[in-house]
Amino acid sequence: MIRIQRSAALAGGRGWFTGRDLEATPVPIGGEGNLAHRRPHRPSDLAAARREVAATTGTDPTTWHLLHQVHGRDVAVVDAEVPPGKELRGVDAAVTAVPGRVLGVQAADCVPVLLSGPRAVGVAHAGRAGVLGGVIAAVVEALRALAGPGPLQAVLGPAIGGCCYEVPATLRDAAGEVVPGIGSRTTWGTPSLDLPAAVRRQLAGLGVEVLGPSAPCTYGDPTYFSHRRDPGSGRQLGLVVRDAHGEVAA
Ligand SMILES: [Zn+2]
Repeated sequence: MIRIQRSAALAGGRGWFTGRDLEATPVPIGGEGNLAHRRPHRPSDLAAARREVAATTGTDPTTWHLLHQVHGRDVAVVDAEVPPGKELRGVDAAVTAVPGRVLGVQAADCVPVLLSGPRAVGVAHAGRAGVLGGVIAAVVEALRALAGPGPLQAVLGPAIGGCCYEVPATLRDAAGEVVPGIGSRTTWGTPSLDLPAAVRRQLAGLGVEVLGPSAPCTYGDPTYFSHRRDPGSGRQLGLVVRDAHGEVAA
């Protein structure tokens, strides 16, 4: 059973984040709820899991556009010419104005971000490299160009928090030179980075309203996959789709 851990009503769109099902019978590879092609996952299990998410969210999995992420800042624009369901290779963000085209981001500690504007939606995958490299500014610029005038909204999915994302002090300090305030401390008192807080600040600084409280920390909450806690075990999926019917005011 795939659990939808969080759903978001964005102005002009809908979004969801999946989680991990601890009550399911453990499977040897990937773990129940894994929505990603990680490790030698059985393709039939993955297809079944994706069908279940599609049924729960009322989306058509043949229209999902999943990012094939590379920790960069390039943004794909999905227009009507892009075949439905085409994987978006080599990008960490995407935007679309086409109703019914579902954009999907996979993460297991990096920050998955869903975005929406008056006439378009977007997704971004913001890990350390993306946050420092400007993927948030890039996706907001692309979304604004497509969405037209009006407010933009975003919601952050589950990601590793500053509470647990331990890094060497030199890395924390270097990151702080690029993104002031990204440095933090773990609950056990060592240097860390707080990616969700940094992403929220970046979005707010770009005039994007961030909806809701911070999502749980993937490392500390076993109901999520965490690459750092359990490398390669699986990833969460974040999906966003533009409403098919009319323009929705914020
Ligand atoms: Zn934590």
